[in-house]
Amino acid sequence: MAHAWRACLPARVSRVRVPPPPLMDKIKILVEGYAHSGKGGIYIASCTTILIEHKGKKILVDPGANPDKLSRALAKEKLAPGDINIVFLSHYHPDHFLNIRLFPKHSIYDGTMIWKSDEELQFSGKLPGTDLEIIPTPGHAPEQASIVVHTKQYGVVCVAQDVFWWEDGKQQSQTKEQLMALVDPFAIDGDALRLSREKVLSLADWIIPGHGEMFQNPLRRMKL
Ligand SMILES: [Zn+2]
Repeated sequence: MAHAWRACLPARVSRVRVPPPPLMDKIKILVEGYAHSGKGGIYIASCTTILIEHKGKKILVDPGANPDKLSRALAKEKLAPGDINIVFLSHYHPDHFLNIRLFPKHSIYDGTMIWKSDEELQFSGKLPGTDLEIIPTPGHAPEQASIVVHTKQYGVVCVAQDVFWWEDGKQQSQTKEQLMALVDPFAIDGDALRLSREKVLSLADWIIPGHGEMFQNPLRRMKL
């Protein structure tokens, strides 16, 4: 009977919802991701690059592959690469990471590691030094991770990158069914991708895709 005390606990302990931090984050799309075929068999793609302002820190998510577009977008915000505190990579596809060459002195963060020169440091949960929640969202790529941001303007924004993405000119999905059925020719694990999509749709008011326009979660839209 060493564990008789357990009988006193309720069968299910309801999960305590963690309130968003009192200081709301700001989020801005610096470059909207694009993807289309070019001439001579060339494919032209660079991802959405996002700036998050969180507790005085500037976090750049996925610098993309086009250095001119990123440099112009940073300059528009009166920022230089040196003003960025954290460079975060959602996953290791070149259209998302090639521009880390603009940040040679920065540590590079991904969903589980901080890379500084030849040093690697593992972490789990929140992005180190912040309250930003990192959630694993594999499927498109095994290491793909998303960031949850609490904003005043949009509520909960999930920077989901290639959990959802569209080629240029394609109609973006309007319903949960369409979003779940969205075909990703580059996905390496369709089952994992579906679970990741469910996860993102369960928590976000707005979603930022890797290529295409930021969109409102259709499940939240119905509740309004
Ligand atoms: Zn991509």
